[in-house]
Amino acid sequence: MISFKNVTVAGSGVLGYQIAFQTAFHGFEVTVYDINDEALSKAKAKFKILSEAFINDLHVTQEQLDAAFQRLRYSSDLATAVKDADLVIEAVPENPEIKIDFYQKLATLAPQKTIFATNSSTMLPSQFATYTGRPSQFVALHFANEIWKHNTGEVMKHADTSDDTFQAVLEFAKQIGMVALPIYKEQPGYIVNSLLVPLLSAGMDLWIRDIADIETIDKTWMVATGAPLGPFGILDVVGITTAYNINKMAADKTQDPVKLKIVETLKSEFIDKGRLGVATGKGFYTYPNPSYRNEDFLK
Ligand code: NAD
Repeated sequence: MISFKNVTVAGSGVLGYQIAFQTAFHGFEVTVYDINDEALSKAKAKFKILSEAFINDLHVTQEQLDAAFQRLRYSSDLATAVKDADLVIEAVPENPEIKIDFYQKLATLAPQKTIFATNSSTMLPSQFATYTGRPSQFVALHFANEIWKHNTGEVMKHADTSDDTFQAVLEFAKQIGMVALPIYKEQPGYIVNSLLVPLLSAGMDLWIRDIADIETIDKTWMVATGAPLGPFGILDVVGITTAYNINKMAADKTQDPVKLKIVETLKSEFIDKGRLGVATGKGFYTYPNPSYRNEDFLK
C-alpha cells in the first residue's frame, strides 16, 4: 500500500490550520502553504491557541505538542511547499476559480507520485479532476470543523480515483486520528450533510409554518430517537449564518414561499440582531445554559 511521510496542507484558514496541526501531531512532516507570509503568521498564532484546545479537550502533554511544532514547516512558495510532498490536502477558499487556478499550478509543480485530496464541502472532486493532471491520484478528504473533537474523515472517490489512492487516503485518515468513512461514489454533501441538511430543513419548515414551536420540535426528536440535540440545538452549533446561506441558495433557486420566509426570518430576527448561535451566546436558544439542557425539558 502507498504510505505517506510528507504532507502539504494548502490554505491555512478555518479548516486548513486544524488539518495541518492534527497531521503534524500524529507524526507526519507537514508543510503549511498559503498565499503570503502574513497568512502564514496568522496560522502560527492559531496553532498556539489550538494547542490549548488539545490540552483541554484531549489531555495531551506539552512534549507531544512540542514534537508536533517541530514537524511543521511554512512556505508561501508553492514549488517549495510541494517539492517533497507525498500528499497535498487542499483547503483553499470554497470558490471554483481559486481552486481551478490552484490545481492547474499544483499539477505542474508537484512530483508525479504526489496524491491530491480536496477538503471542499460543497463541490465535487470531478469538477477539478482534469485540472489536477492526475485524476486517478485525486480524491476528496472531508473534515468537520473542530477536527480534533469531531473527527470524521469522509473519503470520497470520483469516477476515476484509483483504488490505491482511495485506500491510502483512508489509511492516512485513520493514522491522524479520524474515523475513516469510505464513500464509493460522488455524493454532494458527503454522508454527514446528506443526512443533516434535510433534518434541519424539515425542522425549520415545521417552525416557520407554525406547526409547532422550536422547543417542541427539538423535544420530539430528542425523546423519540435519544439524540442529544434537536434540529434547532444543532442549528445553533452550525451557526445561523451557514443555515441562512444554505437556505438562501435553495430559496433563490426554487422561489419556494416557505423557504423564502425562512430566509427572511433568519435575516431579520437572527442575523440582524446578532443572534448567530452558540458562537454569540444567542440563537434559537440562549447559552451557556440552553433550555434543552434543563432536567425537565424532556418530560
Ligand atoms: P478560509 O477562507 O477560512 O481559508 C482559506 C485559506 O486559503 C486562507 O488562509 C487563504 O489565505 C488561503 N488561500 C486563498 N487563496 C489561496 C490560494 N490560491 N492558494 C492557497 N491558499 C489560498 O476557508 P475554510 O473555511 O478553511 O475552507 C477551506 C476549504 O475547507 C473549503 O473548500 C471548505 O469547503 C472546506 N471546509 C470548510 C469547513 C468549515 O467549517 N469552515 C468545514 C469542512 C470543509
